[in-house]
Amino acid sequence: MIPTSTSAMLSALWDEVRLRERPPLPLVRHAQVMAWLERLRESAPDLFLVEEVGRSVEDRAIQHVRVGHGPRHVLLWSQMHGDEPTATTALFELFEYLRRYRQEPRVDGLLSALTLHAVPMLNPDGAERFQRVNAQGIDINRDALMLQTPEGRTLKALRDRLQPSLGFNLHNQDWRTAVGKSGKPASISLLAPAFDEARGDNPGRLLAKKVCAVIRDALEPLVPGQIGRYSDAFEVRAFGDNMGRWGTPSVLIETGPWPEVESEGPLLRLNFVALVSALEALASGRAEQADLERYDSIPLNDSKGLLRLIVKGAQVFGEAGGPFLADVGVAASPSVRTVQGIPRAVVVGAIAELGDLRVFGASETVDGQGLTLVPLPSGDVKEGDLVPLPARRACEVGVGQIARLMLLRPVEPAGTWRVERIIRFDHL
Ligand SMILES: [Zn+2]
Repeated sequence: MIPTSTSAMLSALWDEVRLRERPPLPLVRHAQVMAWLERLRESAPDLFLVEEVGRSVEDRAIQHVRVGHGPRHVLLWSQMHGDEPTATTALFELFEYLRRYRQEPRVDGLLSALTLHAVPMLNPDGAERFQRVNAQGIDINRDALMLQTPEGRTLKALRDRLQPSLGFNLHNQDWRTAVGKSGKPASISLLAPAFDEARGDNPGRLLAKKVCAVIRDALEPLVPGQIGRYSDAFEVRAFGDNMGRWGTPSVLIETGPWPEVESEGPLLRLNFVALVSALEALASGRAEQADLERYDSIPLNDSKGLLRLIVKGAQVFGEAGGPFLADVGVAASPSVRTVQGIPRAVVVGAIAELGDLRVFGASETVDGQGLTLVPLPSGDVKEGDLVPLPARRACEVGVGQIARLMLLRPVEPAGTWRVERIIRFDHL
């Protein structure tokens, strides 16, 4: 019997196995994946079998990593959307865990019960550009039926060859995703996709739901209230849904927003705990015993329910005039900006909502009472500075504007304003 790891144990283990020398997640490109694969081959050639299974539109190798020798085959693939990078690095942290602890009973048991097949970075061309779609401009996750993308064909062919009993479809979701109406970030969202319009169950989908329940129970002690569930409306073109029809039910894991500035480590930790818990439960047979109610009761997501920051009740000027009283909501998400030819991972925020924002959640709320919110005129302005109010047009804020803002308080003498707070999500 494989011993069960607790959330706290797995969380601590992640600190042991995490990749210390890694690029920021959005900058993990195909070359990095190839280098990591080479390291796997060198460090444990008897453990990891690496084979090329396809080529992207731009001729980048799509690789399949096989580890374990158990009768139950599991397929995991990451980054079919090029700008959804978290799980690619998470897979290599999982491999590092398996490599380093292979002699331990819980890992030995896992590798004896399961054979894992992983495709890290299914869409390397998209990853290169940090864009969702592949080099043809096609969303690979809407190509399961037409199979017009070489990446989609590669995944389909691998599934057909391996006939895995379960798949893990690993994505990132919009950073505005909240858990229901709670206003909390959906840091991980789960779904056992339907395989038909009726959203019926069969033994495969029930197993996928139970694995989601296992993941929920593993993550909730670490991030209470930050686990959401996607709607199971059938998407006729998607891989997850069609995998179920083809005989490989799947678990969708979507990594979401994190409420603090340093988000990569916490989100990788959650991915690690989710994956190892799920695989241990599959290896031990505990997954079959999971309580379906623990899946059904995960709150549904609200895809636009969250903002990074809300300024409450400030005076603002718009294109049509002002000042008037408004809440101003900033949405922020990880991105890549190329400065002087060098790509950098950044978090870029823009004004996403303006008006009465009481129904939205936010990672940070700033009280704007008695203050006026205007764009930051230059990078030289500091909190505490005394400044004049900018010219009328330079005071306008509106949806879509990059978040470079300052909150001003009128002070003596008249016409003088003190900079109370600078809000910048244009970090370069
Ligand atoms: Zn995605």
